[in-house]
Amino acid sequence: MVDNKICIELMSKSQNEGFARVAVAAFVSQLDPTIEELSDVKTAVSEAVTNSIIHGYENKKEGIIRIEASISANEVTISVEDFGKGIDNIEQAMEPLYTSKPELERSGMGFTVMESFMDNLEVVSEDGKGTKVIMKKKFYTVS
Ligand code: ATP
Ligand code: MG
Repeated sequence: MVDNKICIELMSKSQNEGFARVAVAAFVSQLDPTIEELSDVKTAVSEAVTNSIIHGYENKKEGIIRIEASISANEVTISVEDFGKGIDNIEQAMEPLYTSKPELERSGMGFTVMESFMDNLEVVSEDGKGTKVIMKKKFYTVS
């Protein structure tokens, strides 16, 4: 059962990455996260949005990035979706240090960061159609 939900659509411009991370963080705040937990969520959202801009839309095509966040009990589910080029080999893309753009000085650690900062990460993608990253995290408030 979903207790609360938001949905944001952004143009794929790097100026909007900061907005996306702050907006999702503000929504997640209602679960009383620690500063560190909030920072983990912001970092994961940034990595996913940056990937959509740089890889999905190849840093030039303008496209839409759709972000959904929903809260169910003490768990947040965040999805970041683009309608860009897609990923042909998801397993390879998710390997630590794999990047298709070494010339841009990418380190290939985005998915690894999302995986380690969130409790669960799922990547759904279709070549030529787009990519959706679904992340989950649980919050345990000690009071
Ligand atoms: P870094 O995130 O460390 O700057 P990176 O973006 O290359 O480098 P990851 O974020 O781990 O590393 O992504 C790995 C690879 O997966 C990318 O190089 C790219 O080929 C592919 N990829 C990731 N997200 C998308 C996306 N939204 N659309 C298309 N390809 C993607
Ligand atoms: Mg990346």
